[in-house]
This record gives sequence, structure tokens and C-alpha cells, in this order.
Amino acid sequence: MNITEIKPNPEFEAEIVAAGGEDVKMCFQCGTCTASCPSGRRTSYRVRKLMRMAQLGLKDQIVNSEELWECSTCYTCVERCPRSVPIVDVVIALRNIAVAEGHIYDNHKKTAASFYKTGHTVGINDKIKALRSSMGLPEIPPTVLSNKKAMEDVDKILKATGFNKIVE
Ligand code: SF4
Ligand code: SF4
Repeated sequence: MNITEIKPNPEFEAEIVAAGGEDVKMCFQCGTCTASCPSGRRTSYRVRKLMRMAQLGLKDQIVNSEELWECSTCYTCVERCPRSVPIVDVVIALRNIAVAEGHIYDNHKKTAASFYKTGHTVGINDKIKALRSSMGLPEIPPTVLSNKKAMEDVDKILKATGFNKIVE
């Protein structure tokens, strides 16, 4: 895209702020994050570029980008950023915006569905139950899986935050 075609996008800026990514404005494009990023070594993901796209309000390009999902949230960039930009918070804010608009991979949706249904992103099956028994552990771990009240609380939180809409 030609830089002259980019128009201010205050609505997207407000969305980023509301989603917890306000400090993206602090980025001065030094590139330290990209130079430190292990995901960027293996993929086309460039975290400095993502920060700049967010500053420029390029919402459509961001929410449709595969690279948005390449960050492993390892926090290496956050430790090294000279401007103390909470980069991972910004990435998560951008992902939340993307998901709210229906941009979600099937596998992520399946993981979210498992969490909504069981309180765990990775469910328990007969094989895991047998393995636990063989190790002298109860078949069902002492988590929400064996605590009805705790699962009801999780359910309330997920509904109150709108998480259920991702999977329903
Ligand atoms: S290290 Fe910080 S200031 Fe430098 S480009 Fe990355 S986010 Fe911006
Ligand atoms: S947190 Fe994400 S963007 Fe930062 S270095 Fe790790 S993988 Fe790269």
C-alpha cells in the first residue's frame, strides 16, 4: 500500500485502547523487537511492522493477517523494548479485536469450545484417565472437572465476558 493512501483511523485507535493496547503509540520503530523475535526467525511475522500497522490504523490488513497469530507470547521483545511498549498486550488486543469480528482459526475455535465446555483447553479422555490411575492419581483431577460450583463460576465469567459468543 502506498503511504499516501493511508487515512487516519481514530475508531481503530480507540478500539486498540479499549482492548488494552494503548501504549502502541510509544513505539518509535527501532526494530529491537523484530531482531529479538524467535517467531520472526521462522515465519514472515515482523512484530515491528505489526506495531506500525497498528499505529497507522490499518485494521483490515491486521485482522486478516496470518502473521497476527505467529507471536508465541514469549515476551522476549517486551524485555528488550527501549520504550517499554507492552508489545504482547498490544498483540493480544489486536487478536481480541480480530476474533470479535469473526476472524478465528478452526483450531483456535475448537480450543475455545473445549474451554467453554470443560474449563480446560485440553480435555480429558479415557487414555489420560487410565494414565492417571496407573500413577496412583484420581482419574479426574481436582480442578473444575471435579468441582461443579467452580465450573458454574467459570461459566458465569465466560458468559459475562462474552467468551461464549466465540463458540456458539
Ligand atoms: S522494540 Fe519497542 S520501540 Fe522498538 S520497534 Fe519494537 S515496539 Fe517499537
Ligand atoms: S512475544 Fe511474540 S512478538 Fe515478542 S519476541 Fe516473543 S514471539 Fe516475538
